[in-house]
Amino acid sequence: MSTTTVPAKENSAATTNDAVLQLNCYIAGNPIKSENVLEVRSPYDDRLVGTVTLAGAKETDQAIEAGLKGGRNLNRYERYSVLEKARGILMNRKEEIAQLISAESGLAIREARYEMGRAHDVLMFAAIECLKDDGQIFSCDISPTGKARKIFTFREPLNLAVAITPFNHPLNQVAHKIAPAIACGTPVILKPSEKTPLTAIRLTEILYEAGLPPHMLSVVLGPTNEVAEKLVKDGRIDLVSFTGSVAVGKRIAQTAGYKKVILELGGNDPLIILEDADLDTAVTLAAEGSFRNSGQRCTAVKRILVHEKVKDAFTKKFLEKVKDYSYGDPADDDTKVGTVIDEQAAIYLEDVTKKAVEQGAKVLSGGNRTGALLEPTVITDVPRDAQMVMQESFGPLAPILSFKDIDDAIALSNSTVYGLSAGIVTNNMQHAMRFIKELKVGTVNINEVPGYRIENSPFGGIKDSGLGIKEGVIEAMKCFSFIKTFSMPW
Ligand code: NAP
Repeated sequence: MSTTTVPAKENSAATTNDAVLQLNCYIAGNPIKSENVLEVRSPYDDRLVGTVTLAGAKETDQAIEAGLKGGRNLNRYERYSVLEKARGILMNRKEEIAQLISAESGLAIREARYEMGRAHDVLMFAAIECLKDDGQIFSCDISPTGKARKIFTFREPLNLAVAITPFNHPLNQVAHKIAPAIACGTPVILKPSEKTPLTAIRLTEILYEAGLPPHMLSVVLGPTNEVAEKLVKDGRIDLVSFTGSVAVGKRIAQTAGYKKVILELGGNDPLIILEDADLDTAVTLAAEGSFRNSGQRCTAVKRILVHEKVKDAFTKKFLEKVKDYSYGDPADDDTKVGTVIDEQAAIYLEDVTKKAVEQGAKVLSGGNRTGALLEPTVITDVPRDAQMVMQESFGPLAPILSFKDIDDAIALSNSTVYGLSAGIVTNNMQHAMRFIKELKVGTVNINEVPGYRIENSPFGGIKDSGLGIKEGVIEAMKCFSFIKTFSMPW
């Protein structure tokens, strides 16, 4: 955490304006009382959206102890019921929570409503998984050295897990870690992004309301060394599940010590448009992939790679399409692209655009910035080594690069340190198969955006995008539990 915190008594806006939420971190259901609060401001107009009382090293320790001490254990049906009830409460408060997501993140309200649907699915799928038996049986008399025995497996919860989440999907990133943990019966300490903590705390409260035993979930925010880093290093924690930037993820990998670590990190996903592609499909996917969620998805289209023979035709159609992506006030129903997370992030995007232009790229549309609000921007002739495309640009930039043939496209796609996902636009099955086999990424989607998935399918990247350990409800449940085996004469 790096933002300035203010003593609670000086936080006059929070006490005079009813619309300002005053929320707390929680240790096993108990709100943290603190002198210091974090102010959460709208990236669009800087208004105070809410405040959160902060934890320190002492409260972080208390959260660990409360999780380890345990409490009432829920059976499978009870875990199912809590998740189902939480889903119901969330849906009853759909518009309120969507507005909170939009207010604290600057995401357009239509994106926040979409995110509500994703969180609904996560809770539903996690609830369903509670009811499925996940054991296996191995007969042992199947080799010359075999015996008349059977080996059985079942899953046990971890003692305690930590979930650290980023800002870009304030609700769904949190649901994606908490729901599978609950489905396994694993207590979890949540450390949400300091930029979007309000939605995460609301979800925590909803889970308590749905009957989650308090020891199963704590939520803490505070100085990085006293909260996040302390949790990562603590030897009593069994798992750190982290989603965020490569730099922080690699630091966690170095400091976590002897525990499970799940890392879902940055991406630099290409949309690869082949010569035979349906250009209307390509244009729609390029625009949706580049600009949805203000371009702030790990799987957003961050490079548009187009066959040189169709580049001009694609670009012409794309420039027409971009006009549909109105940007502005996130609260406005008609706005498609809200702000990025803060002004600093928007300045970074402006800066990498300028650098690409100095290297010969051309801005064809957009590029204007007011505070954290950046116009959807189309840039062509981007050099292959431009910072904009070699590193992750987390915002509504659409850099176009061309390639000459499939070998070139595969080499170009694989040329960065990232390996999250890719989208291919083609009607040629053989070409599609080559990309599926040869791209060094976790997911390849044909005639879809790179990020397409459902909430219980395996998801995650390789190379600097992650360790290849997948999330998605079903895979995440494997992470949030241990397999125990037992054998019996048979
Ligand atoms: P970030 O800066 O890495 O922060 C992520 C989380 O880590 C926040 O809660 C942050 O807390 C915490 N943190 C910061 N320093 C830490 C430390 N030393 N030890 C432990 N935790 C620490 O990432 P972000 O800017 O919020 O999110 C954007 C990034 O997430 C992008 O790179 C995006 O691609 C990636 N992402 C990846 C996926 C995926 O599934 N692969 C999905 C979504 C996003 P504070 O807020 O208090 O600093």
